[in-house]
Amino acid sequence: MPVLVQKFGGTSVADASRIHLAARRAVRALLEGDQVVMVVSAMGDTTDRLVRLAQQVSRRPSKRELDMLLATGEQVSIALVAMAIEEAGYQAISLTGAQVGLLTDSAHTAARIQSIDVARIRRLLDQGLIVIVAGFQGVDRDFNITTLGRGGSDTTAVALAAALRARACEVYTDVDGVYTADPRLVPTACKLPAIGYDEMLELAGRGAQVMHARSIELGKKFGVPIHVQSSLTDSPGTIIMDPTPGMEDVVVRGVSLERGLARVTLHGLRNEPGLVAAVLDEIARRAIPVDDIAQTVAADGSLVTLSFTVQGREEGELRAVAELLTHRFHAGHLDLSTDLARVSAVGAGMRTHHGVAARMFGALAAEKIRIDHIATSEIVISVLVPAADAEGALQAVHQAFGLDRAGDAA
Ligand code: ASP
Ligand code: MG
Repeated sequence: MPVLVQKFGGTSVADASRIHLAARRAVRALLEGDQVVMVVSAMGDTTDRLVRLAQQVSRRPSKRELDMLLATGEQVSIALVAMAIEEAGYQAISLTGAQVGLLTDSAHTAARIQSIDVARIRRLLDQGLIVIVAGFQGVDRDFNITTLGRGGSDTTAVALAAALRARACEVYTDVDGVYTADPRLVPTACKLPAIGYDEMLELAGRGAQVMHARSIELGKKFGVPIHVQSSLTDSPGTIIMDPTPGMEDVVVRGVSLERGLARVTLHGLRNEPGLVAAVLDEIARRAIPVDDIAQTVAADGSLVTLSFTVQGREEGELRAVAELLTHRFHAGHLDLSTDLARVSAVGAGMRTHHGVAARMFGALAAEKIRIDHIATSEIVISVLVPAADAEGALQAVHQAFGLDRAGDAA
């Protein structure tokens, strides 16, 4: 019999009636002929509450004890879901991460899955039970409880689906799918019937908070189709999958917006081997992650301009670091622009279509939007723009690629 993994997020098990609804979905799948594994998150905002509680007790709670605490949320919900299924007259069993042999490394609060021992789950499925697994948690080699990072239940679900060679992983959540843009920012955004793993990874890494990024990497690696859908309706959601040739006809699948960015530019640096390494090393030592690094060389090759983008830092802190770099590396001049946003267009169709950049920059020009930096990769074009222009830029790009109608396509 095919195995189906169904993952339920916190809002989908927030109270007793939602728990019954989740239980009914699993029973329905069982009656339709699947062996069903449910992966469940903590109820509602339980995990946030537990984090706040820890902060009331300790200014710097140890990560091991945080994991011990946070993992309790999922233990509550799996037991209740199992009870709901039994109440409906079907057999179920709840299991913690340790009980399904979900082994992780020891990086508390951000652990990575190393292996899953599915023998026990298979035995229980073969006996006709619905198996309910606690999301987000595992154990390391010394049986310390670990967690996979906030939102990590998605990753538990896809990893289990891969290990069990499930036919799919269904993700029930409080949004009804993946949209061409955040509908709060772009009212004409459409729900996508399907999106490729790479496209979803790019969007997830650029502010779209639909799924834990690691879960999409796993889905891609093991070819697990992931259906994202609402737990409250029966409307079809979005399938995250290997792109079909037809999907590549769509040039841009979605657009995203990230805020709180700043850009540091050092002009007139001496062009010597090791310069960029030395500058970035100074920044890395302060644990400031940078991206969009660019270097341009002056006409005679003796001087360079180096710039990079930084997210979510105080202007004062950034200025201090930038001034120190200017001094240390004898830069002629320093530029610091804060209050920037990044607008990105993402689509695997860019690989095979041309004129994509021209269309994007044409749309931004028509809106008279200043561009502070451009970065491109195989399936992404992104621009840094003033924060005040960000929503206008997002809407303009969304429209330029015909995404207002994307729901009908693909
Ligand atoms: N309960 C955990 C969290 O809130 C894990 C999850 O929901 O995926 O982050
Ligand atoms: Mg989540």
